[in-house]
Amino acid sequence: MAVLGIVLALGVNSLIVPVVRSRLLPPVPSASSGAPSPAASDSPTPRPSSPPPSPGADAPRLDGAPTTGFTKFGLSDNRLYNLMWRRGEGSAQCEQLTVTAPSVSAAKLTTYGKSVIDCLLALHRPQAKAQGFTIDTPKFVTFAGTERTACGVIADEQVGVYCGRNKTIYISTVADDWKNTYRGARLGYLWVISHEFAHHLQASTGLLRDSDSKDLKESRRIELMANCASGVFFGAVWTQLGGGPVEYKQLRSALQSTYANEVPGRGTHGSPASAVLWFDRGFKHEYAAYARCNTFRAPSSEVR
Ligand SMILES: [Zn+2]
Repeated sequence: MAVLGIVLALGVNSLIVPVVRSRLLPPVPSASSGAPSPAASDSPTPRPSSPPPSPGADAPRLDGAPTTGFTKFGLSDNRLYNLMWRRGEGSAQCEQLTVTAPSVSAAKLTTYGKSVIDCLLALHRPQAKAQGFTIDTPKFVTFAGTERTACGVIADEQVGVYCGRNKTIYISTVADDWKNTYRGARLGYLWVISHEFAHHLQASTGLLRDSDSKDLKESRRIELMANCASGVFFGAVWTQLGGGPVEYKQLRSALQSTYANEVPGRGTHGSPASAVLWFDRGFKHEYAAYARCNTFRAPSSEVR
């Protein structure tokens, strides 16, 4: 099982997300696989009527738009934090991604990955332009074995890598243990690619330039912000993707297992709990907003 674990900073504006071979993630049970409930005829007394359905695990908090007004391109004040979408109002460009992700094969994955990037660009570019920054089209490269990049040599164990020196997202074709979609999640590749795309956004807005990747706490703030950004992406296009509680649980499981090897407070990416906390901040609100992804204004207890 591949598990994202460590950031290796191999140069200015480069982030690399290696994977450590680790335990196998148990399959996410489907909604219909629960234990059978006792038959109603076995009950001596009338059964109470079913409770009203509780909100799904992916239900947003209806809390309106957060405060923005960011004016700079720094770490804690950055115009990137002004971007937001009402939940599900994202780009129609993303609707094509509702199909099941392809099996891991370089050709299909490249086509799919580029369509994910097209969706991410179509979503972000209009608001980025209004905020005064541009987002170049990142290159998308799949690899297996080892790959020589502008940020150093990357290897099989690495699921996703963003190299700021050549603005390229690298995705391994062999890191997916289930040979289908990333960790068995229908939207799994979208999580990996949107996380790496978040590093591209950070590079486009000065965040990678200003952060000190050798400082573990700063590294965690960068990485947890990327997970929050992934949550923003999913929140903005959740409707277009046909997302629901099953998909949310799959993504949460992928987050938790990916960072399982992180020692809280001492790692480069943050603990599983921190990863979920920040993903949910991007995802579980009426507005999918980067204002909630400002890890550089968060207390240390939230970036462990
Ligand atoms: Zn990362």
